[in-house]
Amino acid sequence: MRLIKKDYIFQSVNKLKGVGPQLSRYLKNKKIEKIKDILFSLPYSETDRSVITKLNNLEIGKIQTIKVIVKKLNFPRIRKLPNKIQCEDETGKIDIVYFNSREGYLRKIFPLNNWVIISGKINFYRDKYQISNPDYVTTLNNKDYVLKNLPKYNLTKGINEKKYRGISEQVIQNLPHINDWIDTKFLNKNKMLNWNEAIKKLHNSDESKNNQSKSFRRIVFDEICANFLTLSENRNRIKKIKKIKKFNEFFYLKILDILPFRLTKGQQFALKEINKDLKSDLRMFRILQGDVGSGKTIVSLLSIANVIESNYQCALMAPTEILANQHFQLAKKIFKDLNLNIEFLSGKTEPKKRKKILFSLEKGKIDLLIGTHALFQKKIVFKKLGYIVIDEQHKFGVKQRSDLAIKGGKNCDVLLMSATPIPRTMMMSIYGDMDISKIKDKPSMRKETITLSKPEKKIDELWPYLEKQIRNENQIFWVCPLINDSKFLDYSSAKKKFDIISKKFPNKVGLIHGAMNKDEKETILKKFLNKEIYILVSTTVIEVGIDFPNANIIIIENSNKFGLAQLHQLRGRVGRGKNQGICILLFKESLSQNAVKRLKILKNSDDGFFIAEEDLKLRGFGDLTGYQQSGLKNFRFADPVIHDDLFKLAESFILKIDNINQEKYNFLLKLYDRAEIINIKEV
Ligand code: ADP
Ligand code: MG
Repeated sequence: MRLIKKDYIFQSVNKLKGVGPQLSRYLKNKKIEKIKDILFSLPYSETDRSVITKLNNLEIGKIQTIKVIVKKLNFPRIRKLPNKIQCEDETGKIDIVYFNSREGYLRKIFPLNNWVIISGKINFYRDKYQISNPDYVTTLNNKDYVLKNLPKYNLTKGINEKKYRGISEQVIQNLPHINDWIDTKFLNKNKMLNWNEAIKKLHNSDESKNNQSKSFRRIVFDEICANFLTLSENRNRIKKIKKIKKFNEFFYLKILDILPFRLTKGQQFALKEINKDLKSDLRMFRILQGDVGSGKTIVSLLSIANVIESNYQCALMAPTEILANQHFQLAKKIFKDLNLNIEFLSGKTEPKKRKKILFSLEKGKIDLLIGTHALFQKKIVFKKLGYIVIDEQHKFGVKQRSDLAIKGGKNCDVLLMSATPIPRTMMMSIYGDMDISKIKDKPSMRKETITLSKPEKKIDELWPYLEKQIRNENQIFWVCPLINDSKFLDYSSAKKKFDIISKKFPNKVGLIHGAMNKDEKETILKKFLNKEIYILVSTTVIEVGIDFPNANIIIIENSNKFGLAQLHQLRGRVGRGKNQGICILLFKESLSQNAVKRLKILKNSDDGFFIAEEDLKLRGFGDLTGYQQSGLKNFRFADPVIHDDLFKLAESFILKIDNINQEKYNFLLKLYDRAEIINIKEV
């Protein structure tokens, strides 16, 4: 079916009556550019003008509606003095005041000795009630126009409320009927409103204020569907592309032979899924999720071995130089008997060496290139790139991911790895375009890190403990929420803590934080890795996957200020070696009940996925850090916590659509600003 006049809502606002260039500019500042943006700018509250208040009952400062008789009109001949209309009812008097209004106009709307309805903000001036520039003035026979609940919108400077409301009303009134993209059967079954009805209701009732109202839930559902559709569209365009199959297993078996451990069940299973993709004639676009320490790196290297054996080049990218370098060292170790050419490239690689690497790469002489973002610069040309692995990039959004897949070329498989556990409800909204592998277990020899909590005022008890640890050659992370002291926040700062701790342990303490440049950070991390220092005071910059086998203790200050998932990540920094890991959470004396609950969850569980779910429940979505860049922030109405059931419903709805009506769904994507994401130019 055709959508009637469907273009109306995608027209620019300047097509509306009463919207000139200036107003357009104002609206643009509010991100209102198309007519549909007006539809989606929901009123945040209503002004109740429906009740007529007697003049002896007025409340100063409130918007109220009165019914009065016009007694006298006053038009002073001195400019700057306001025009004044004196009115009264049987209980009192009021002045209506106008600045800059024409006499003729006022005489028309205030007929002498007639009743009028006026609505506006009540002031009090020189012993008398007053309304200046009232919002509405009308005669009795037209009173229904004013006597109702009127929606109120968020306004920026320069747009008067009445004007804006007029525009919004105009849009609602002229809105062509739009054929729903969801069929009636589904709507009825799930007790959902038709879209047209929902959008009108949102502007004409108080339902916009309630994010669980029927009409609000309808646009939430649409928004989630639009998001899922975008991702599945993205997936189709990447997965459709044929590639040459690659798979050989000789290298792989040889490496397994020399590994000092057996793969866990989870690792084996993930590897099986990855290998299946490599064998398939569809491209792999997969995310490997696994808690910190679950052993993702070795899984990726084993799959890399398979691809190299089939004569393709591979690239492994990590977010930091140190992490990339650790992967490089590991790769050299496990591939040492295979006679492969493995190189390392980062922003710091010397120009001469870099040139050499680029040359060999283009000639196809390098089998595996490991490094940082430098791997994907324009100048870097692979002869036969077959596989890209990216570690710890949970901050890659949908667009970046697909750009990468497309840049790799059509024969290139893509694997992302992340230790950020995503709660189930959010899985599809974040990774709906990818296949997902999960490693759910951890190497069994590893001991769970012991988590303790301690009130800050007992901090002095820690010094002798730390002294002993240092004597035993153990290393310690000390994490603070802030870099510098703050006037406003009563949290510990890394800089201050560094001063305090380095006085106690001279020459044994280092400092690292996000305001340092990359080189400074890397230098200090290397010092820590080489045991030149024993305590590393830091902010959360140490979150990402580096292995410090000798760091067994992590102390986290103001621990209740961090998200649980984040604390779990931080805790994952220790206990990666042979020794028992210990995590000490410091907190201020007075913890809220909620905070106590959260610390308990962390103490009792070592399962990142479980922790993420609990974190979501306790803190709510709006408060979650770590997901901001994952594409979820694009939700304007939907909230994974509040609308949990709609996320599930949308998921099953989208998965069941087998015959996508392109026109209908393109409309939906355009409406909810998703179309741009998938308009990716293919090369
Ligand atoms: P992550 O999943 O956090 O990236 P890593 O790949 O860095 O974890 O692995 C953490 C540590 O566990 C490494 O030192 C690695 O050698 C070791 N490891 C990996 N798999 C196993 C296994 N099956 N048995 C024992 N140790 C393992
Ligand atoms: Mg890792």
